[in-house]
Amino acid sequence: MGTNFKSYLNDVRRDHMVRYYEDHAAYFYGKISASSGALVTYFMTGQFVFLVSSICMIAIMLADVGNIRSYQGIATDKDKSFFSWEHHYTFLSTAFMLILGVWCFFCFTLTSNPFIHLLSVAISLGNVLSLICRNFSNQRILTLQLLAVAVPMLIGILHYGDYRSMILLAFFLPLFASVRDISQRLRDLFRSAEQQSDAKHAFSEQLNTALGSMSHGLMMFDDDMRIKVINTPALNILGIHKDTNCQDQTLDEISQFVDMDSPTSNKVRIMSDALTERLNSANRDKIFKLSDDQFVEITLQMRNEGGCVMVIEEVSERIRYQSKIDQLARFDELTGLYNRRFFRDQANQSLKNRKEKNAAAIMFFDLDDFKRVNDNLGHQAGDFILTSVAERLNELLPDSAFAGRYGGDEFVVFVDAKDCPDGFDALADAIVKTIPKDVKFKNQQLRFGVSLGIAKFPEDGNSIDRLLKLGDLALYHSKSEGKNCYSHFTPELEESLQKRIIIEEDLIGAIRNQEFELYFQPIVRMDNGKTELFEALVRWRHDIHGGISPADFIPIAEDLGLIREIGQWTLHEACKQCSRWPDNVSVSVNMSAVQFQVDSITSSIKNALEQSGLDPKRLEIEITETAVLSDMTHAAVVLDELSELGVRISLDDFGTGYSSLSYLHKLPLDKLKIDKSFVDDLDNSQRSRTLLNGIAALGKALELKIVVEGIETKTQYDLLHDNYDVDLAQGFYFSKPMPASHALKFIQLNSVAAYPPPKAKVA
Ligand code: C2E
Ligand code: CA
Ligand code: CA
Repeated sequence: MGTNFKSYLNDVRRDHMVRYYEDHAAYFYGKISASSGALVTYFMTGQFVFLVSSICMIAIMLADVGNIRSYQGIATDKDKSFFSWEHHYTFLSTAFMLILGVWCFFCFTLTSNPFIHLLSVAISLGNVLSLICRNFSNQRILTLQLLAVAVPMLIGILHYGDYRSMILLAFFLPLFASVRDISQRLRDLFRSAEQQSDAKHAFSEQLNTALGSMSHGLMMFDDDMRIKVINTPALNILGIHKDTNCQDQTLDEISQFVDMDSPTSNKVRIMSDALTERLNSANRDKIFKLSDDQFVEITLQMRNEGGCVMVIEEVSERIRYQSKIDQLARFDELTGLYNRRFFRDQANQSLKNRKEKNAAAIMFFDLDDFKRVNDNLGHQAGDFILTSVAERLNELLPDSAFAGRYGGDEFVVFVDAKDCPDGFDALADAIVKTIPKDVKFKNQQLRFGVSLGIAKFPEDGNSIDRLLKLGDLALYHSKSEGKNCYSHFTPELEESLQKRIIIEEDLIGAIRNQEFELYFQPIVRMDNGKTELFEALVRWRHDIHGGISPADFIPIAEDLGLIREIGQWTLHEACKQCSRWPDNVSVSVNMSAVQFQVDSITSSIKNALEQSGLDPKRLEIEITETAVLSDMTHAAVVLDELSELGVRISLDDFGTGYSSLSYLHKLPLDKLKIDKSFVDDLDNSQRSRTLLNGIAALGKALELKIVVEGIETKTQYDLLHDNYDVDLAQGFYFSKPMPASHALKFIQLNSVAAYPPPKAKVA
C-alpha cells in the first residue's frame, strides 16, 4: 500500500509537472502582473530596489520561457527527465516568489503610500492563490514558495507597524495557513478521482482480457445495431483482420469495406442476416452455416438499455460429428439402406394422415438359406450377398419407394400403390425372381432364394408396427410354402400365429408334464383287409385348447429344438406298444426332417428297440422328401444303417414335394406312401388318376410297396381297389387313429373278421 501510494503521488506530481509545462499561460500572467507592479512602484517612488525587483522577476520569467521551450522539445520523453524538470521549476518559482515577497517587504518599509501597499499585497495574494492551483500536488514546492513570499511580506507589514497593517496581518496569517489546507484537500480530491479513474481503467483492461480470452465470439450492438464491442474470437470466426476498426460500424458496413468477394465479406453478410432473423424471432438460438465447413451457433441477448449482445459459438466440429452420428443412426453401414429405426420412422411419417384411397404396401423379405452360405463360405461372401441384394433392390424400386435392412438378412420395402402401375404382385415377383439371380463371388455362383411377405395399407392395417408384423407373418408363410416365393397377408395367417404363440408358450410344459399320448391308425392290406401295421401318431391333450393337432405343434417343436425329446418319447412308446401285439403286426413311426438330420438317430432307434425288445423288422420309419433331399449324403448313410438293422423305411407324403425321383433308387426304401391329396381328387381329376397310376407303376418297378393314405369313403376304397395296383391303404374308412388300448382289440377283431372284407380283383 505504502509503495503504491508513493508511486501514486509520484504519478500525480509527474502529471502536474507535465500539465504545468504544457499549460503555462496563467503562470506567466501572474509573473507579468508582478513585474509590471514592481515597475509601477519604481516609477512612483524612484526607489532603485523596485526596479531591481522588476528586472529580477522578468529575468526569472525569461529563464522559464527557455525552460519551457526545451521541455517541449522532449515532451515525448516525460518520465526520464521528470525530476530534473521539477528541480528547475522548484528553483525558478521559489526564487520568483522570494523576489515577490522582498518587493512587498520594501513596499512596506520604504513607502507609506497606501496604493503601493495595496498593489503589492494584491499582486502577492493573487500569486499565492494561483500557487494552490498549480502546486497543490507537491506540498514541498508549495510550502517553499509560500514561505518565500509570505516571510518577507509579513516582516515588511509588521515593520510598518500601524494598527491597520496589524489588522491586515491578522487576516493574512489564517489565509496562509488555509492555503496549505486547501491544497491538501485538493490533493485528496484529486487522488480519489484519479483512483476511481484507475479502477475504471483497470476494470476495462480486465474486461478486455476476459473478452479476448473467451472461447466464444462476442459482439455488443447498440440500438442502431452498431458494434460497440467485438472480441478477438469474433474477429477470428468471421476472418476480420484484428486491426480493422469495427467500432460503431454496422455488420453491413463492415461487409462492404472488407474485400467484397472475400469469404469474410460473405460471412459478415450471413452474420448480418442472422442478426436480423434472430431479432425477429422468439427463439434466439440457432445454427448458421458460414461456409461449407464452418457452422456457428448464435445466441442473442437483448440489453435493457437497447441493442443486444450476440454470442457466437463455433460448432463446426459438433455439426460434423453430429452428421456422422446421424448417418450412423439412419443408415445401415454395410448396405447403405435405411436402418431398422429410421425405416420405421420414415414409414410412420408416410402413413401419417394418409388417405385410405392412397394404398401402400410393406414388403418384408429375407434370404433363404443365407445362414448356410454364410457358414460355408464365410462372412465375406455373406456381406457380398447382402450388398448385392441392396444394389439390386435399389434398381428395382420406384423412386419414391424406400427400403431398409431390418436385421441380419431381413429387408423391408415401403412402396406406394400409385408407383406400382403393375400392382404390388409384379414388384414382389421381380424381387423374388431377380434378386437371387446370378450372384457371383470370387467366380463362385452363390445360391440363395428370397421369401417375401406383403402387408397392405389400408386393407390389412394402418400402423407401421402392424403392417411390419403382418408382412413378417406373410413372409413366414412363404417360407412354409416352400420358400423362394411371395405371399400376401391373410387373416388366417394371423389366426395361425395366435395358435402358434399359444403352442410355443405351452410346449415345454407339455413335455415336462407328459401331456402327450400315442394314437395308432391301422394300415390295411388291400388284398385281404388284414391290418399289417399301425402308424403311431402323437396327440397332445391341452387343458384349455383340448387336443392340439401334431400338424400344428410338430413344426413348432422343430423350430424350438424340442422335436428330439418328443421324437424319442414317441419312438420308445411306439416300440413298447408294438411289442405287445402279435408278431405279424408292425408299427410305423414318423420322423421329422430335423430329427432325421441329428447324427445320433440310429443309436436312438437301436436304443428304443433294445429297451422294448421289439424285432427291428417290426419297426418302420416314415420320412418325408424334405428330410431326404436337404442332405442326400447323410440320408443315404442313415438309411443304410437302419436298413442293415432290419428297420424298414417308408417315404411319407409322396407326390407333394418337388421330387426329382432320382433319389428313389439310391436309397434303401421299402414303401411309398401316396399323399391323401391324390385320393381326394380321384373322383374328378383325371390328372390325379394318371399320377396315381404312374406312381403305383413306378413303385412296383422299384420293388417298393405302395400305400395310399387318407381313404375316407367306400367309394374311394372301391375305386382304388378295382383300378390301381396298391398294396396297402390307410384312412378313416378303416379306422381313425385310436389309443393304444383300442389298437390291441382292433387287431384281435380284425384277425377274426378282416375289414373291409377281402374283395376279388376285377380282371
Ligand atoms: P402324416 O404322417 O401324413 O399322418 C397322417 C395324418 O393323416 C394323421 O394326422 C392322420 O390322423 C390323418 N389321417 C389319416 N387318415 C385320414 C383320413 O381318412 N382323412 C383325414 N382327413 N385325415 C386322415 P395327424 O395325426 O393329425 O398327424 C398330422 C401329421 O403330424 C402327420 O402327418 C405327421 O406328419 C405329423 N405327426 C404325427 N405324429 C407324429 C410324430 O410322432 N412324430 C412326427 N415327427 N410327426 C408326427
Ligand atoms: Ca406319416
Ligand atoms: Ca402322410
